[in-house]
Amino acid sequence: MGQYFKAVNTDKREYICPWCIGGGAKLWEWAANSQGSIFTLLLRKSDEGGGGDFYGYHKGCGEGGPINGPLSSIAGRWAGDRVCLVGDYDSSSLYNDARSYRNISRELVDEWNAFIEIPDRKLEYDPCSSCTPS
Ligand SMILES: [Zn+2]
Repeated sequence: MGQYFKAVNTDKREYICPWCIGGGAKLWEWAANSQGSIFTLLLRKSDEGGGGDFYGYHKGCGEGGPINGPLSSIAGRWAGDRVCLVGDYDSSSLYNDARSYRNISRELVDEWNAFIEIPDRKLEYDPCSSCTPS
């Protein structure tokens, strides 16, 4: 079978489910597919924007220009937090404990797709059965 991984933020008690964002759960799948790139957006830290940046790309702010106010609920959301890709074989039980955390997969996919714009690099939100209460 193999070990499954999910992205967990223990400070904010949030997680991202690999299946809910249209990806695979094995570490190799996180590494080899678009889903692994989500950390660039989540971990971004700067209060200024520039060309090719999240803010500069869409909002047209000047190179090195200050960002006035929060423009995204996702970009930089996890910067500075305790974040891990936890496996279901890990002895910590965090993988299962995170089920009680908030799943931010939908917000992430919406923000990611608006940011990246390239069709082949977009994610697809598809709530999986393990995250949907039956
Ligand atoms: Zn899920």
